[in-house]
Amino acid sequence: MASGDWQRKVVEWLRGRQGPDDLAVFSMNLAIVVVVVNLFARLSWLGWVALAFVVYSMFRIRSRNLASRSRENEAFLKALGPARPWVQNPRAAWGELRTYKHARCTSCKQKVRVPRGKGRLRVTCPKCGTKFEVRS
Ligand SMILES: [Zn+2]
Repeated sequence: MASGDWQRKVVEWLRGRQGPDDLAVFSMNLAIVVVVVNLFARLSWLGWVALAFVVYSMFRIRSRNLASRSRENEAFLKALGPARPWVQNPRAAWGELRTYKHARCTSCKQKVRVPRGKGRLRVTCPKCGTKFEVRS
């Protein structure tokens, strides 16, 4: 079977379906983590937990109820809060952490992002205009 056939089959299979969204990918990654943990833990029930995550992920990917799945995905992303970039794109989140430092305005607590390793920086808050110093 040529690879083009295979690709067409996948596209066909995903037509009108949800496809892998954040929650489905997260669930699949969780399954992988559980499987790896279980290589050491060797607990029979953990295998079922991993399988449950895989099944849930497949259910999301194959689902035709796009409205509900999209609502669940939104709720999931919201629940993640500040951990969201780490789940959606860990590589980018890590790069961000290494390149920038996040400081808070001394007067209004607005978050500001400053480049790391530039010594003491004088920052003007974009929200309230207060000037303060940040060690970067
Ligand atoms: Zn401010």
